[in-house]
Amino acid sequence: MSTLTFDSLNPATGDVVGSHPRHTAADVHEAVERAGEAARWWAALPPAERKRRLLDYKAVLTRHIRELARLIHDETGKPVGDATLEMVLVITHLDWAARHAQKVLGRRRVNPGTIGLNLAATLEYLPLGVVAVIGPWNYPAFTPMGSISYALAAGNAVVFKPSELTPGVGVRLAELFAESVPEQPVFQTVTGLGETGAALAADPRVKKVAFTGSTATAKRVMAACAENLTPLVAECGGKDAFIVDADADVAAAADACLWGALSNAGQTCAGVERVYVADAVYEPFMRELSGLAAKVKAGEDYGPITMPGQLDVIRRHIDDAVKSGRVVTGGSGAVRAPYVDPVIVEDVPEDSPAVREETFGPTITVRRVRDAQEALDLANASAYGLGGTVFSRDARRAAQLARRLRGGMTAINSIISFAGVPALPFGGEGESGFGRIHGADGLREFARAKAVTRQR
Ligand code: NAP
Repeated sequence: MSTLTFDSLNPATGDVVGSHPRHTAADVHEAVERAGEAARWWAALPPAERKRRLLDYKAVLTRHIRELARLIHDETGKPVGDATLEMVLVITHLDWAARHAQKVLGRRRVNPGTIGLNLAATLEYLPLGVVAVIGPWNYPAFTPMGSISYALAAGNAVVFKPSELTPGVGVRLAELFAESVPEQPVFQTVTGLGETGAALAADPRVKKVAFTGSTATAKRVMAACAENLTPLVAECGGKDAFIVDADADVAAAADACLWGALSNAGQTCAGVERVYVADAVYEPFMRELSGLAAKVKAGEDYGPITMPGQLDVIRRHIDDAVKSGRVVTGGSGAVRAPYVDPVIVEDVPEDSPAVREETFGPTITVRRVRDAQEALDLANASAYGLGGTVFSRDARRAAQLARRLRGGMTAINSIISFAGVPALPFGGEGESGFGRIHGADGLREFARAKAVTRQR
């Protein structure tokens, strides 16, 4: 067992929040070994018993919600209210996964659809074994638990590697699981820096890796998985577009746009980063948007940038946007490390980094377009494809636009957090990754289909 440790720090104050082991590759392999036995035990429990344990875990998390929200706040800097909401979403998904696992995955008869063969058929979805979950820091409880709850409900054991910036939240989530499932280490964490995650992804006994983080790291994880043909679900970055059609309710659109851009200080994979507004409503929309943005202040309405290195990316994108576009709100002076005030810049060229690359900060670029078709063409030109939003009063047109907008999820006339909806799959395409978490697809992502036919 490694004796080296590292500290997690409060990004707003620099205070040490906790100290954690820097697990070596050998430690990781031992954890996977223990998880193998735990996986066999957990998979052998009757589904109703697994459900009971998971609902008990839900009750434990609910009892500890204040403590967990405080820890999320301390490690990320986000307001305690936002951290509490994050925990509510964790609990919502855990509840859904526990209650739906048997219905989605359990054995059922299937009409085999053959012609001339008198066959009976059954289909069920069996656990994979050990699932490795590697998570980011921006939603340190919600994001990994969006995989962990579903993997556990599907009958797998989990070894979770939290981000180096937010290890304490992950460690506490696993400790609390042991209150409901004390017999075996069904949910463990390993902590450390990049090499800990690399050792986990490379372990041949891991039967699936669920990775959430940057596109660049996902490519390294995928290369490690390729060695053992380990399947991977990759939830990566985004550059979500927000389309305002000519007949949109501009006040509602501006409000939703700003919330989607600023919540969690813009450190949201499916946050609003690019805005395309139809010519007919451009002026009133911008008046509403800049009026609302003028009332918002970093450090009061939202928290700091959690990862110090991310400030360099945000600063580079703001400088780029300011140089090539017109500042509406904020500008280069908006960065007051570790805080960044809202930044809105219009007319930034589509090929500039501020429009093409993920910024992960409270900044948006806005472009005037002829109509929704031009908005769609520009929105879909991104290498990313995660979420997106359409505002229009015409329900048919909005539905058509939403279906054609690149990405796994589109919201119409609201900025619901897609990730917060448990019954729907969440995931992207292109540089935003592949595979789906949450919902029935999310349960099946952590199971293998087993078909049996019988000659009648
Ligand atoms: P990151 O730097 O890619 O790190 C993600 C995780 O991977 C961390 O736990 C990290 O550990 C680990 N890691 C680093 N190198 C590794 C390697 N070679 N092998 C295995 N694991 C390795 O991402 P982040 O900065 O934490 O998170 C921000 C990114 O996540 C953004 O791009 C955001 O869009 C994305 N995100 C996506 C979703 C989604 O659902 N699509 C949700 C939330 C966030 P260390 O702590 O050691 O670096």
